[in-house]
Amino acid sequence: MNPQRLILILGDQLTQTISSLSDANKSTDLIVMFELVSEATYVRHHKKKLVLVLSAMRHFARELRELGWRVHYHELVAQGDATVGEPNNFTEAMAALLEQSLTQSVSQVVVTEPGEWRLRQEFDQWSSTFSLPVHIRADDRFVCSRTEFANWADSRKQLRMEYFYREMRKKTGLLMADDKPCGDKWNFDSDNRKAAKADLFMPSPWRCEMDEITQQVVELVQRRFSQHFGDIDDFFFAVDRAGALTALEHFVSSALANFGDYQDAMLEGEPFLYHSLLSPYINLGLLDPLEVCQRIDQEYRNGRVPLNAAEGFIRQIIGWREYVRGIYWLKMPEYVGLNYFSATRPLPEFYWTGESNMACMAAAITQTKEHGYAHHIQRLMVTGNFALLAGVDPVAVHEWYLQVYVDAYEWVELPNTLGMSQFADGGLLGSKPYAASGNYINKMSDYCGNCRYNVKHKTGPDACPLNALYWDFLARNERLLASNPRMGQTYATWRRMSEDKQQSYLNSAADFLQTL
Ligand SMILES: Cc1cc2nc3c(=O)[nH]c(=O)nc-3n(C[C@H](O)[C@H](O)[C@H](O)COP(=O)(O)OP(=O)(O)OC[C@H]3O[C@@H](n4cnc5c(N)ncnc54)[C@H](O)[C@@H]3O)c2cc1C
Ligand code: SF4
Repeated sequence: MNPQRLILILGDQLTQTISSLSDANKSTDLIVMFELVSEATYVRHHKKKLVLVLSAMRHFARELRELGWRVHYHELVAQGDATVGEPNNFTEAMAALLEQSLTQSVSQVVVTEPGEWRLRQEFDQWSSTFSLPVHIRADDRFVCSRTEFANWADSRKQLRMEYFYREMRKKTGLLMADDKPCGDKWNFDSDNRKAAKADLFMPSPWRCEMDEITQQVVELVQRRFSQHFGDIDDFFFAVDRAGALTALEHFVSSALANFGDYQDAMLEGEPFLYHSLLSPYINLGLLDPLEVCQRIDQEYRNGRVPLNAAEGFIRQIIGWREYVRGIYWLKMPEYVGLNYFSATRPLPEFYWTGESNMACMAAAITQTKEHGYAHHIQRLMVTGNFALLAGVDPVAVHEWYLQVYVDAYEWVELPNTLGMSQFADGGLLGSKPYAASGNYINKMSDYCGNCRYNVKHKTGPDACPLNALYWDFLARNERLLASNPRMGQTYATWRRMSEDKQQSYLNSAADFLQTL
């Protein structure tokens, strides 16, 4: 038997152009894919996320076989004593495979670098564990390589996304007119803060019919992961590249034009509004982030969507998405332990049930349970804002976000949660905390009209809890925040209040926090 290479493809590397396959040979190399209980349970992922990832992996393996590749695929089984002989991690799975005669003459292992620190640590041990050359290749599905980001960061005192984003615009040529940004402005965010009105013509996301493979995975998840958070009914995500491309075209034709205007809006009963729901596909590898942005750029240049929509969308991908990935690899493993405000409160139980009298929280959590989805402003300004104001332990918040969303992978989730939403990094990612009272939610949504609390009341049992929690958060953290130039006015307002008024905010907040 000729020496062969084992090429490991991970569950979020479902791309034929992945770097591990760049020089692969169909007749001598063996592609290896493992479904592992450990990956499904290191946090207990939402049931829909498990269905999505496992079904997409199975579809990708089938696609590779149809193209003539040899694929070794370890499948989780739904029935019998499923745990007997199950590998506990990738190392055990790989060791078992290497022991099989089929792979006696393995010359090397090739893998594209994983997106998570814990797996990188594990794979780094493999050369010595297996006494084999193990090649961990860069993941080139990003516009900015890890080295390029580190060089960019090295030359700066403050790592602001906006400046990084401009570099990425120049590098990709997206929405550029020669060397200038289209519309002579880099950022149209100020146009993108309209509140939505309930509208008969609200688009709905692309819904993919389940095929036999997906139905089998649904059965597997129901049997083996029934204790995990989230509903499994009504699974509509695409599970292969063809479906993901259809979802992209559906978004472009039905929602993109309004994406900018209503990017920050929230509406009762409308979980998706004009958002794309493309993050699960981009993160899995079914869509390439640059191809998505080029499609949006083309739509703008053809005059079919306004610039604030195209720019707002492209900024999220070549700006925020690339930037948080750069921060993750620059700052791990210390990053996950940061806790600027020393927050220690356990995560309130209603994050798992959605049973809250706060209409905004109930809406965001209930749709998260149903679909594994909430859009950015719900994650940041509803569930994130509440945890920040209430002083919840940032690790508990991080683990919640990693569990409950179908698009959650630590490299993108952690900086968004710990940095952007909880300010636990003390301002590395954002210049000030995203803290808000009920007023913001009332402006951007219709939740308050259906709430048991009154958003106009500042203190007392009927007042919107966020109003008192907001000032309580600021008072509690004055030493850490008062010198922040962007917080000056807010603290000036706090100091102008009478002592009685300040105290009534603090008392109201304490009363509410006791109920958690
Ligand atoms: C606390 C918190 C946790 C988050 N966790 C995740 C996560 O686990 N996985 C994830 O992909 N995104 C995460 N985000 C970012 C963002 O909320 C989601 O990418 C977005 O809601 C996905 O829905 P969509 O595809 O409809 O996005 P759209 O609103 O349609 O945006 C378009 C695309 O831009 C990208 N994008 C937008 N905002 C961000 C951002 N801040 N960081 C990275 N990419 C972005 C996504 O690829 C998204 O598909 C998180 C944000 C917050 C505040
Ligand atoms: S009143 Fe307060 S708690 Fe209720 S929906 Fe509005 S912001 Fe949320």
